[in-house]
Amino acid sequence: AKELGRNNFQYFAGWMDAQVSNRLEMLVSLRRALDRDEFKLYYQPKISLASGRIIGAEALIRWISPEQGLVPPDRFIPFAEEAGLIVPIGEWVLRTACAQNKLWQDAGLAPIPVAVNLSPRQLDQNLPEFVRQVLVESGLAAAWLELEITENVVMRDAEKTVATLNALKRLGLQVSVDDFGTGYSSLSYLRRFPVDALKIDKSFVRDIARDTDSAAIVKAVISLGHILNLRVIAEGVEDQEQYNFLLENGCDEVQGYLLGKPMPVEDFTRRLELEMQT
Ligand code: C2E
Ligand code: CA
Ligand code: CA
Ligand code: CA
Repeated sequence: AKELGRNNFQYFAGWMDAQVSNRLEMLVSLRRALDRDEFKLYYQPKISLASGRIIGAEALIRWISPEQGLVPPDRFIPFAEEAGLIVPIGEWVLRTACAQNKLWQDAGLAPIPVAVNLSPRQLDQNLPEFVRQVLVESGLAAAWLELEITENVVMRDAEKTVATLNALKRLGLQVSVDDFGTGYSSLSYLRRFPVDALKIDKSFVRDIARDTDSAAIVKAVISLGHILNLRVIAEGVEDQEQYNFLLENGCDEVQGYLLGKPMPVEDFTRRLELEMQT
């Protein structure tokens, strides 16, 4: 038994070393990525179910690493969060998205709100003042900025979060609850939170046609949202069947590969230009 314990310990220590050096490497390269401007924002259209037209965009970060190529956010955001690097990265995202949206407006394109994802670590008392500064610097009116926060963030420290969200809302921007249905917000909290929209998580949307429970949950969230006077957005819409279901059940907006994948800024600009001609 002693022998086994020792082997296990050696195995464990070796595993720890690998973890630590990977993490250190990751941190060093993320820090460098920020300095060297290796991050890019992709934009995914949000489509109105009433008009079929683009009524918004979500900014999604990508890391174009010289060593690894295009790195999706799920592979580096968790590290950035753990290391506190998510704050400077998130600041870059907010500045870039606001500046880009102002460029679109200055180019005469129909104005749309651009949504930015917020990590829980960003949602502190300093955030409203930072957002205000970014809006002033970019010249973007607050109405054209939307912030997406995940359901669980909201639940963490309800009192503080409500205060921060109220301060953000006073600036005039929109707030939506992301990944709705995967967390555990109670209905009474939802009523107290100053939010404008619910985003139904893509796991429910994916199973609409195959699973009656998912279909029922989607319907229920749409009703709940509307009772609370919130817009309801479905994400991860990949096929016509899902689209039709959401249309028939009164969902307000859809987002997903069927309507457009997240794309580089040049491509999204072309989409907006095309939209102006139709
Ligand atoms: P999210 O906010 O829930 O974003 C939706 C994710 O679903 C995106 O993945 C998007 O590319 C993907 N998606 C869109 N349409 C479809 C579809 O039809 N089918 C499927 N299967 N997926 C679809 P992405 O871009 O890899 O981002 C993953 C997550 O990383 C995001 O989830 C968000 O939590 C986080 N993230 C992305 N950008 C940022 C950022 O700037 N800041 C922070 N804090 N988090 C970010
Ligand atoms: Ca999101
Ligand atoms: Ca989501
Ligand atoms: Ca997510």
